[in-house]
Amino acid sequence: MFPSNPRSWALPGEQPSDDAGIRRYLNRIGFGPVFFHAPYLVNLASTDPEIQEKSVSVMKFALERAARCGAEGVVVHAGSHRGMDRTDGLEQVARHTRALLAESRVFKVIFELTAGGGTPIASLPDHACELAAAIGRTGRVRFCIDTQHLFAAGYPWHSRGGISRLIAEIEGTIGLERIACIHVNDSLAGFASRHDRHQVIGRGEIGLAPFRRLLRSKELRGIPLILETPGELEEHSDEVALLRSLARAN
Ligand SMILES: [Zn+2]
Repeated sequence: MFPSNPRSWALPGEQPSDDAGIRRYLNRIGFGPVFFHAPYLVNLASTDPEIQEKSVSVMKFALERAARCGAEGVVVHAGSHRGMDRTDGLEQVARHTRALLAESRVFKVIFELTAGGGTPIASLPDHACELAAAIGRTGRVRFCIDTQHLFAAGYPWHSRGGISRLIAEIEGTIGLERIACIHVNDSLAGFASRHDRHQVIGRGEIGLAPFRRLLRSKELRGIPLILETPGELEEHSDEVALLRSLARAN
């Protein structure tokens, strides 16, 4: 869920009563876990003070809303450090994250590895480890892997043995328990293209076989999967059915 318009800085008026209603509704239908996604403009690594300030306040709003709605935490793109040394960029993201976590009581900031365009703070699994190290001791930082981003960033998770390599790398660094969720998307853009362009499962450059391997991985079982593909509700329900069929061993 988006706490505010995903393509704008504008924040909706505070409506805590609506949020309590959302929480009750989600409980009643037994739907969850729920994740919030910060607007795409947020860049905690920006060198522009105005963008930094807006990013922090939009994140603050998202974390508060996530708390009121009973969500797990807020997924945010790890950002881009254009115009600054990457180490300084990591430090800046770490500083803002520590401050945000200190203000919100229980919720998690979940960094999504990006497709590798521009000058990314984190697009590959070992970057997640660097970011976690920069933030320091906090049990409230998690990561989100996006199958399309990882593919576009040039990490061959889709190849035979790719999933095992990815799992081994995560286990050897941040640990699988820090992967809060996986965004499951096929790719309109080619391997290592660095373009963030999602496609319907099975109709993109990744194809079905890698998703079958991912869905049947014992190690990844239990990690929430989220579709972010183009299309309407009905098409998404077909996609969920397709993913469920891939997950079943035959
Ligand atoms: Zn994503």
